[in-house]
Amino acid sequence: MAATIECGEGISTSDSAMYVKKVLSAASPLTLKIIAECPVTKARACDLILPHSTVSTPVFMPVGTQGTVKGITADQLGSLGCEICLGNTYHLGMRPGPDLIERANGLHSFMNWKRSILTDSGGFQMVSLVELSEVTEEGVKFQSPYDGKEILLSPEKSISIQNSLGSDIMMQLDDVVSSTVKGPRVEEAMHRSIRWLDRCIAANKNPEKQNLFAIIQGGLDAELRKACLNEMTQRDVPGFAIGGLSGGEEKDDFWKMVTLSTNHLPREKPRYLMGVGYSVDLVVCVALGCDMFDCVFPTRTARLGSALVPWGSLQMKHKQYAKDFQPIDPDCQCPTCKRHSRAYLHALFKSDTAAMHHITIHNIVYQLSLMRSVRQSIMEGRFPEFIRTFMKRMFPSRDQYPSWAVEALASVGVTLD
Ligand SMILES: [Zn+2]
Repeated sequence: MAATIECGEGISTSDSAMYVKKVLSAASPLTLKIIAECPVTKARACDLILPHSTVSTPVFMPVGTQGTVKGITADQLGSLGCEICLGNTYHLGMRPGPDLIERANGLHSFMNWKRSILTDSGGFQMVSLVELSEVTEEGVKFQSPYDGKEILLSPEKSISIQNSLGSDIMMQLDDVVSSTVKGPRVEEAMHRSIRWLDRCIAANKNPEKQNLFAIIQGGLDAELRKACLNEMTQRDVPGFAIGGLSGGEEKDDFWKMVTLSTNHLPREKPRYLMGVGYSVDLVVCVALGCDMFDCVFPTRTARLGSALVPWGSLQMKHKQYAKDFQPIDPDCQCPTCKRHSRAYLHALFKSDTAAMHHITIHNIVYQLSLMRSVRQSIMEGRFPEFIRTFMKRMFPSRDQYPSWAVEALASVGVTLD
């Protein structure tokens, strides 16, 4: 009898459970089911099936640092409907350290988060946070900010830490160069990132449980990026990230590199655009074919008092909200907007860090519901219309539309009116 996981008819519950277990253990730890593709743009809605949860894409992934997203608990994050969050390998690797987290049975158990986790390689933080870092073929050498000792983060070491953390998706260590750097250093970093990818693949002790994503580099040089795409897509990795962007480059360069990358990435694998979190960028880059995004922006800006809304943002510290008894966004369904007024949040900012917490919750819900609406519109075949409505709401008049966004959307067949 041909049994499938879905029907399971004619087999007892325990047999069926065993069967499912067998099938799952033999399969890859990642499955991407394409649910719908936009007939106009390159957008798609997928189910990304990971060991700890199924993630609906397009997805925005909130960024955690030391085992939690700042200003919010793991429990709250789950109750807001978040299916995947980021863990920061650099911070967790330094303190409390991979041994302790391994003893706690991995990061999921340590932070009591049952859904999916993506961990970065630690390389980006090293280059951006530590002044005294040096890149060699071996890895990134840096001085520990805690005790001054010299530490080497090699591709093997990064994967070993991520194996201890037990994340669903691990990122390769790449040679990170600022997107504003030009010249031979960009080419060197691109080739080194390919060599480091191979070392990461070889170092992964848990390929049956943990997915390793490659990171496409090549700066703003189309030829270098194509060469990187050509090499990396020949490797059998479960997913690809587009790296080296969102670092202060011109938006015209940014979107052209994104679209070049999605044009060359395989349709059947997830595409993760790193470091993107502004809502306009998210909507445009979904149209350009990206599935996954992360950024510290929504949570960082919340701690500075800025609440995200469909027409931009509100700075809750401003005097104008002192006597404003509306919620941040009357249409928002988040726990903050259901319970608290702008006036309350404004007053709270003067005395208590709880204000940051309330706005963090609101901003995470804003990002998650934006992506949910995007997904819904793709599934209903009305994504181009969604984009037009979204832009009209975000910008008071047509001449305020960012020209890069207009051009990027036109390149995938969406003209704005
Ligand atoms: Zn809200």
